[in-house]
Amino acid sequence: MDVRNCRSCGRLFNYMGGGINICPACREENEKKFQNVKEFIRENPRASIQEIADKNEVTTNQIRQWIREERLQFTEDSDIGIECENCGATIRTGRFCENCKNTMANALSKSIEKPKAPEPPKPAKKENKNKMRFLEK
Ligand SMILES: [Zn+2]
Ligand SMILES: [Zn+2]
Repeated sequence: MDVRNCRSCGRLFNYMGGGINICPACREENEKKFQNVKEFIRENPRASIQEIADKNEVTTNQIRQWIREERLQFTEDSDIGIECENCGATIRTGRFCENCKNTMANALSKSIEKPKAPEPPKPAKKENKNKMRFLEK
C-alpha cells in the first residue's frame, strides 16, 4: 500500500497510481468545482478567467490547468485565451497554437532524419535499407 500526503489538503490517503497526488475527497471537491466552472462558462461565455475564478472560488491557475488539459473549451468569439507555450499566441484550449502544433509535428518527423541533410527523405530511406541489408549479411 502506498500512502501519500494529499497535495491539496495535506491529509494522508491511499495512493492509487496514475500520478494523482490528491485525496479522493479533494478530487471530488475539485470535480464539483470543475462542473461549476463549466456551467458558469456556458452561461457566461464572455467572462474573463479572473471573473470565473472569483465567482467559483477557484484559482486562475486551476482554470488555466483545466484549459491546458483541454477539459475547458471556449468559443471562437470568446475573449478568454491562454498563451501558446511556444510562441505566446492566444489559444482557446490545449498548450500550443495550431501553427506551433504543425511546426512541432514537422520537426518531430524531421528529427528522425539528420536535421541538416537537405535531401528528400526517399534516398535516405534507401540508404537505411542498404545498411540493414549489409548488417544482415
Ligand atoms: Zn485532500
Ligand atoms: Zn504558438
